[in-house]
Amino acid sequence: MSEQAAIYLSVVIPVYNEELNLPALFGRLYPVLDGVGRSYEVIFTNDGSADRSFELLRARQAARPDVTRVIDFNANYGQHMAIMAAFERVRGEVIVTLDADLQNPPEEIPKLLAAIDAGHDYVGGFRLARRDSLFRTQASRLINWVREHTTSIRMTDQGCMLRAYRRPVIEAIVRSGAINTFIPALAYSFASNPGEVGVVHAERNAGVSNYSFYQLIRLNFDLITGFSLAPLQYFTMFALACSAGSFLLVVVLALRRLVLGPEEGGLFTLFGILFFLLSVAMVGIGLIGEYVGRTYQVVRARQRYHVRETLG
Ligand code: UDP
Ligand code: MG
Repeated sequence: MSEQAAIYLSVVIPVYNEELNLPALFGRLYPVLDGVGRSYEVIFTNDGSADRSFELLRARQAARPDVTRVIDFNANYGQHMAIMAAFERVRGEVIVTLDADLQNPPEEIPKLLAAIDAGHDYVGGFRLARRDSLFRTQASRLINWVREHTTSIRMTDQGCMLRAYRRPVIEAIVRSGAINTFIPALAYSFASNPGEVGVVHAERNAGVSNYSFYQLIRLNFDLITGFSLAPLQYFTMFALACSAGSFLLVVVLALRRLVLGPEEGGLFTLFGILFFLLSVAMVGIGLIGEYVGRTYQVVRARQRYHVRETLG
């Protein structure tokens, strides 16, 4: 993607089992983009959908071949890899990402473009009133707080995928070859003049979220461990404090033995302390494993996804 941008706008949309939402998305997205009055393309990545999503995309591509391209993965590689594959192929000067389930209203795209025109090379949307479950909203607040305090990434709402980028930011993302990544955060780290605009958020048009509880945890691990070593460092600090405490405890117990004689009870207190320290060690091993696993994936340098077919 080193060649010059040929058109103004590329809209990138990951699609995973969205057959119920695609018709409505097409119906709202294309009029908005036609209304912008500049050249554009829409790139859909079919992320291994098991439903009729790909057939719908194929039909759409046939209906609007001038402005529609489709990338078809052979399997499900996740939302961020789907976006990455499109980033490697975009032709636009400005790139906008969007969810396929209409939680990000296409009507908000011109707002992002206005902020880009005002000079930002990265414009993050933040959801004005979020329409998700209470659990998701609260979990996001927590992870937002953790991110603020462990990484240098400053954004109001990392989870909102309605965002716009200038081409150089996307080129930097593609060059980075990141594997388990969190695209909004990665883009932020390459931007020189990031901006934010508030965008409307809607409830999912149809179907349920594709993210299970487990996947959400994985994704947020990607966010924190991908952009900071703070978990390792905090853990070391905590482990140091624990060792100092245990050392003191040993001294106290030894003195007690000498002065008061052998103790009768207290065995279970010691077990308690031992189990606590053991669990601390186990968490530490797991944490190191997170980083080692990521290092392994980078070192292995296997292709990140496999494209079965591209249309347009
Ligand atoms: N998505 C994807 N691959 C996945 C999961 C999701 O391409 O493995 C797409 C999905 O089709 C949608 C977007 O990513 O366009 C956001 O997914 P979803 O709405 O399930 O997530 P939520 O809004 O609950 O965070
Ligand atoms: Mg959604």
